[in-house]
Amino acid sequence: MREVSRSSAGGEDNVKTPGDPLAVIEEYFPGEGTYVDEERGLVRASKVGRSLYDYANRVVRVTGRPFKYSVPRPGSVVLAYVGSVRPELAVLTIVGEYDKGGNLRRISWPLTGMLHISQASQEYLKNLFEAYAVGDLIKARVLSEENPYQVTTKGPGLGLVLATCSNCGGVLQPDQGGFLKCVECGSRERRKNISRDYIRLKNPRRL
Ligand SMILES: [Zn+2]
Repeated sequence: MREVSRSSAGGEDNVKTPGDPLAVIEEYFPGEGTYVDEERGLVRASKVGRSLYDYANRVVRVTGRPFKYSVPRPGSVVLAYVGSVRPELAVLTIVGEYDKGGNLRRISWPLTGMLHISQASQEYLKNLFEAYAVGDLIKARVLSEENPYQVTTKGPGLGLVLATCSNCGGVLQPDQGGFLKCVECGSRERRKNISRDYIRLKNPRRL
């Protein structure tokens, strides 16, 4: 059985990550390391590895060790930026993953997180704007297997860890009563899911 690694540029361009489209289902059967996305009619990668196309048997698979990369697993705690917020859904860019010792490891390529309002806070939220804003840095736990990852910010240590002032862009630092206070203009903002791990900067004015 001859397997060919199909890549225009070779090397790491051929590395697939979970969710990457590999073929249309009429063209290839799903092999190891793949799954069928019936809605779109695609075979997609379900793990990190190289894509291999078996032309004779019309099977595509993703094989190999994940090289130097790792991807979040269900239960992983990740660090993410809030890219957009709608009343019921925030879209995040996952930029790092915490190991068991709590050390942050950078992620080698941007992954997407989806935060639904039902997973945002233990406290009741009328809408997600009560908890998060674009540009916020948050700590979240991964709930699903594949990119885009479903995440939650309910739980100890999860939630908002760094935010900037909507008035002037200055750094917000924890203040009393669930408020954050801007180090530049003194404006206060109420946020409903501030993490106990909110980053308290030593010299925030120097940022
Ligand atoms: Zn301000």
